[in-house]
Amino acid sequence: MNHRKTRPVLRSLAIAVVCASLLAGCATTTSSTGRKQYVGGVSQDQLDLLGSQAFAQIKGQKSLSADARQSAYVGCVVDAIVSQLPSPSPDRTWEHALFIDKSPNAFALPGGKIGVNTGILDVARNQDQLAAVIGHEVGHVLERHHDERITRQMGASGAVQVLGILAGARYGQSGAQAATQGGSLLAIGGFLLPGTRQQEGEADVVGQRLMAEAGFDPRQAAELWRNMIAASGRDGRAPEWLSTHPDPASRIAALEKRAESLMPLYDQARAAGRRPRCS
Ligand SMILES: [Zn+2]
Repeated sequence: MNHRKTRPVLRSLAIAVVCASLLAGCATTTSSTGRKQYVGGVSQDQLDLLGSQAFAQIKGQKSLSADARQSAYVGCVVDAIVSQLPSPSPDRTWEHALFIDKSPNAFALPGGKIGVNTGILDVARNQDQLAAVIGHEVGHVLERHHDERITRQMGASGAVQVLGILAGARYGQSGAQAATQGGSLLAIGGFLLPGTRQQEGEADVVGQRLMAEAGFDPRQAAELWRNMIAASGRDGRAPEWLSTHPDPASRIAALEKRAESLMPLYDQARAAGRRPRCS
């Protein structure tokens, strides 16, 4: 018996059945790296709403940094990255929040929301390395990874809860209220859980390309990972970003190799005047 082979097939089948039984427009699509995806368990509007609600909930739970300069620095990198998103995303205003939290972590949510912990600024030592983090997280949104997760969860009791939250949101309840009534929004959405290995690899590919297009040095993505590993050695504890993003060694090799092929794109961006100066 080869469980490793049969399991994903069964899971795919289960999701396909869920897809077929849902009223919403569940569909099979192909990601930009050629991976088959089940998405559409909820509509894009609903997904954006869930992202916004989750963001409101996180902001209610965590301490926001009062350092205006540091927040503007993060915003500068975010703006440069999202300005490279394919249409219709450029029209959207992306909101970011800088949280006082030593763990080096960041996230992006559907609905144009980005959260960055102050701890990430200890390992992302320049604007290009921060762009590697932001690009990766935005890559998760761009490739509909939250959509995939929600669609998978719609199959279980999650469907009722997700729809409950959406109904609550429609009637103007706060994210926290809606979440209390419908269960934990973050748990249901699985918004902050690490992605699958495939999703992580895909976010790397998409994120590194975004950085190059925005005029950030794609070679710095590998440097970021070296800093991550060094940081984990220092206090003997793996930084969160490292522990939730598997296989750092082979990742660095892949990022380095890809950086070479992205250099023409980077040079082109610089020549076109995309030279971010975030500080
Ligand atoms: Zn990730």
